[in-house]
Amino acid sequence: MMNWNVKALKRVIGSTLLGSTMLVGFASVATAQNPYWYDRDNRQLKRHQKQEKRDLKLHQRLEREQFGNNADLRRHQKEEMRELKRHQKHEKRGYNWRDNDRRWRY
Ligand SMILES: [Zn+2]
Repeated sequence: MMNWNVKALKRVIGSTLLGSTMLVGFASVATAQNPYWYDRDNRQLKRHQKQEKRDLKLHQRLEREQFGNNADLRRHQKEEMRELKRHQKHEKRGYNWRDNDRRWRY
């Protein structure tokens, strides 16, 4: 038990040291020049979120066909749209956080 703890601790310290050393040289480049991996992730996220929106729109179209376009359905669909936007906002933040995380590691 003790042994594992020490090993784990050393690993954490090691990666932190490596991370911060790399960070010094890399952070300024990363923010100033927007390296391609950041760009790529951003594109991936955008594509993914576009697909999500398409899916919701399809879902809502089928709903309209099934239930007719009435006030209740419109309210429901508005709520769904809000839900998606909330979700995507969180997702975006998540991606940024992972970017930061990677910046620390490489
Ligand atoms: Zn619905």
